[in-house]
Amino acid sequence: MVQPLLAHRAFALKYRPQLFADLIGQDLAVRLLTNGLVKQSLGSAVLFTGTRGVGKTTLARLLARALTCPQRDPVSAEPCGTCETCTSILGDQQLDVIEMDAASHTGVEDVRAILDACPYKPVACTHKVYIIDEVHMLSKSAFNALLKTLEEPPPYVQFLFATTEVDRVPETVLSRCLRLDLRPVETDLLAQHMAGIAQKEHLEMEPLAFTLLARAARGSVRDALSLLERASYIGRDTLTVLDVRALLGLSDESRLEDLLTACIQGETVTTLRLLRTLCSEGASAKEVLVQVLQALHVMTCFLVEAPLIEDMLFSETVLAHLKGLAQRLSVPAVSRLWAIFSKGLEEVMVSPSPELSSEMVFVRAGYTAPLPDLHALLQENSSFAEERAPYTPEQPAPSGIHSFQEVLSALESRKEVLLLEQITHGAQLVSFKPGAITLHQNGVGAAQDVPAKLSKFLSQRTGSPWAVTWSAEEGAPVTPVREPSQQRLQEPLAKQVVELFPGAVLDSGT
Ligand SMILES: [Zn+2]
Repeated sequence: MVQPLLAHRAFALKYRPQLFADLIGQDLAVRLLTNGLVKQSLGSAVLFTGTRGVGKTTLARLLARALTCPQRDPVSAEPCGTCETCTSILGDQQLDVIEMDAASHTGVEDVRAILDACPYKPVACTHKVYIIDEVHMLSKSAFNALLKTLEEPPPYVQFLFATTEVDRVPETVLSRCLRLDLRPVETDLLAQHMAGIAQKEHLEMEPLAFTLLARAARGSVRDALSLLERASYIGRDTLTVLDVRALLGLSDESRLEDLLTACIQGETVTTLRLLRTLCSEGASAKEVLVQVLQALHVMTCFLVEAPLIEDMLFSETVLAHLKGLAQRLSVPAVSRLWAIFSKGLEEVMVSPSPELSSEMVFVRAGYTAPLPDLHALLQENSSFAEERAPYTPEQPAPSGIHSFQEVLSALESRKEVLLLEQITHGAQLVSFKPGAITLHQNGVGAAQDVPAKLSKFLSQRTGSPWAVTWSAEEGAPVTPVREPSQQRLQEPLAKQVVELFPGAVLDSGT
């Protein structure tokens, strides 16, 4: 076996899985493959799809060994790792395992060059294995050349394809492959995997630091290991979350905390100063907004008493601070900030000057955050809340019409003169509650279909169903409708608004 010249090997290489059991996060694909191997039902072509770094080529190479190893485990299908075949493949010296990177060999000649040997039996192994990485990069004629062999492959030929863009692989090729979709590896699993390797490397790290690295790797084992390797170069006894944040270019938590506080307090000058400091230290405008959004999400969880999501990235100190900050705001206020920052993030992503755009977002948020909620203001200052109290959830029609007077106003404002006339002169009100009205037909002034018409009108107007019926029981006479504007100004909400904002002029609106 070839010994590495350098004592140091990249983590990704050093810890490349040598057995199916070592591979993380791809249990289903591994089960399908090992079953296929044991039952000899794999077919002559296997295609691995998935994002970068999830283990496509690793799995293809592992499969190449499992296919050809004469001492393969009959149950688990694991290659032995020690026989001549295994060691020659591991050392890239096996003539019967041919690997080609289609990203740099896209042409028909490249494909022909390796396929020309197809008719000849394998030299040393049971199979001739072709591993073609990034297979979607092949040209159309190269795919056609490949297809000829794929249609009638010699029994000893095995194709293993890997691709990040399966949509670019022709249907004719896809239909001849066993397709295995590899999933991005979950954050928890990646963090656990990194922790195992860190232990082997005698690398001490705070547990949350692994989570941070795993998140940044976005499901890629290769990226996770390369990040871990970079972290190992920091060279401290115990790596902290702060070290890792710096490594990843994430802004310092305490600065983010100050920034958010200043913004919520409406201190625009301080907000902009802090934001500029963060950006001058290398934080990207986008990253700052993403972190603000994460903080707002945490604050909402505190407010609605929902559990925090597991892989939370903030330290205990920051969480405590966010909790305090949340208690000074209401759910609508935090939602408003969320809307501003989400919209802002979209703007920053497409902006030619992301930093300027992010400043505008913070200014906008800063001017909105300190505004009190109208609802809270009214509740504090009035009996408005009590007046609304009778509407319980079982009466689901507080949709703008809460009294029979309002029914009449609505008819008036929509110029339903005939219907209004029939009701005021030909009907009596037996009972009213939102969603249900009972009328008594008073003489011949109202046509029989008045309830149906009124029901239709109210349902359309409020968006919820209204039942209107005639009753034999007599009711109260219907008083003619007042001027809508006057009436609206008598409503509790309107009264409160006038009291709170003396001099306010209310438009009755219709
Ligand atoms: Zn072997």
